[in-house]
Amino acid sequence: MSEVRLQNITKSFGGHTVLPDLNLTVPNGSFTVLVGPSGCGKSTLLRIISGLEEPTSGAVVIGGQDVTLDEPSRRGISMVFQSYALYPHMTVAQNIDFGLRLAKMPAAERQARVAEAARILALEPYLDRKPAQLSGGQRQRVAIGRSIVRQPKVFLFDEPLSNLDAALRTQMRVELAQLHQSLDATMIYVTHDQVEAMTLADQIVVMNAGRIEQVGAPMELYDRPQTVFVAGFIGSPK
Ligand code: ADP
Ligand code: MG
Repeated sequence: MSEVRLQNITKSFGGHTVLPDLNLTVPNGSFTVLVGPSGCGKSTLLRIISGLEEPTSGAVVIGGQDVTLDEPSRRGISMVFQSYALYPHMTVAQNIDFGLRLAKMPAAERQARVAEAARILALEPYLDRKPAQLSGGQRQRVAIGRSIVRQPKVFLFDEPLSNLDAALRTQMRVELAQLHQSLDATMIYVTHDQVEAMTLADQIVVMNAGRIEQVGAPMELYDRPQTVFVAGFIGSPK
């Protein structure tokens, strides 16, 4: 069970309120996509879920447990960012293994997990290469590999494809959908790309200025937008 529930989340920076009062349920095993204009609070919300940022008030509940005061490492969550900083001096295998080594996991278990991640992400031929010898898409897969090996219950993605070219983005979309199927994990995915949202999501959350405008399946938002904002945002290509 890894449903994510946000209850009356507020967040202010100084006197500036970014999230006035947000309630959202992300179903266990769903691929939930957050969309909305730049600055509307998407990244802040992901950081609150992951524990990198504390809400001003409200609760984060994961799998029925209130984790609002828990350290990020204790939440069973993994976050993949747009800027995937790989260690340039390490091989692909070492990069994927790094977090497990830090956690002092036994070597045999680490090896098995790295091998499994490499298989899922089709990185087996590249395990001994350095990041500089990889394409952008391969590097992004290594970054995702670092998350997979930790076997999180919930994956958070913050615009992970926005640095890639259009062809690669299309390919990675397919791979992310397959990844979601094979891992059976809950995914919360931020993008400002409507096509990405429409093709990946089973639930789309449209945000505007820190508030949720509408939540629904892609075709539901497309066919029955409840506000002009949603109609404009879902309807108009980037
Ligand atoms: P998005 O990811 O949707 O583009 P963000 O969550 O990054 O939006 O930012 C939402 C708002 O919160 C913006 O106005 C941003 O300037 C502000 N903000 C985010 N983080 C901080 C911070 N650490 N300190 C002050 N303001 C912040
Ligand atoms: Mg952002």
